[in-house]
Amino acid sequence: MYLLNKIPIALCGLALITPNLAVAAIDYLAIPLASGFDFPVGKPDSKGYYKARGFWPNGHLGEDWNGRGGGNTDLGDPVSAIGDGIVVLSRDLRMGWGNVVIIRHAFLDKSNKVKFIDSLYGHLNERTVVLNQRILKGQKIGTIGTNHGMYIAHLHFEIRKNISIGMHRSKFAKTYANYYSPTSFIRANRQCQTSQKLHPTPVNTFAPYPGGSPRAKFPRIASTILKKPSPRGDSKKIIPEVQNSVKPATPKPGLLRALTSPPRLTPKVQDIITEKKKPSLLNPAKPRKRIGLLSRLRSRFSKESKPRSNSRPRGLFPRR
Ligand SMILES: [Zn+2]
Repeated sequence: MYLLNKIPIALCGLALITPNLAVAAIDYLAIPLASGFDFPVGKPDSKGYYKARGFWPNGHLGEDWNGRGGGNTDLGDPVSAIGDGIVVLSRDLRMGWGNVVIIRHAFLDKSNKVKFIDSLYGHLNERTVVLNQRILKGQKIGTIGTNHGMYIAHLHFEIRKNISIGMHRSKFAKTYANYYSPTSFIRANRQCQTSQKLHPTPVNTFAPYPGGSPRAKFPRIASTILKKPSPRGDSKKIIPEVQNSVKPATPKPGLLRALTSPPRLTPKVQDIITEKKKPSLLNPAKPRKRIGLLSRLRSRFSKESKPRSNSRPRGLFPRR
């Protein structure tokens, strides 16, 4: 595994990238340029998988990949990074997304210009990478999932031109201005020119997105993020309020007696109840007779002369 290689080159408030969204100061981390791209499932070249839904602007902004076995046969299958890069998001966002990983890639395009893209992997069963982790092409970043049982297992996979979108898709045009058709992009960029140098790559370009958990499979790294103290420091205020609300009230002595002792009834009511329980003299409850096999046979032979009918004589076979 590649350890975090955090080299902040510069700190600058590049809020220009997203004029409508508040973004914290963008950092730069030095990463190698991607040597090329491959599909995120069935490496190499999506072997054993098919594209169940394609990309179309203003509709489905990524591709859905399924195993050829159908149904949930691909649940838990590995999902791989499409190229070298760095994790810029790894969270369980619940809602329609579930576990999401976004990896940022720097690469040289055909005109030898450095470009940045984000690859997004959604509905994962588990994430096996954490924020700011450096990733190699083909490295497992998680597994195919169902978004906590919401869908049949599949991978939702996007490639973004615009590295400011993050989880705010609705704030950006859902067109080729911001997205690539994933399959077309991969086919056009199988091999990219590389260099020995690390390239400064912008990170922290997303506007904050509420909810979700950054907890991934590596609890040691993730827990340091979770243990951050609340910036508002209001935890002390909440605790006494909760304690007061659950404190039981002392019951009045009369109510306590009524709850713990059986109800007292007037003698008249008590007499009626006990009378009901007594068996009536006119119609005493008949004790059930147990008829043995011998007496049944005896009784049958005594009535042998009678023709057998479908209706059984009731006295011999009491209802069960
Ligand atoms: Zn999808």
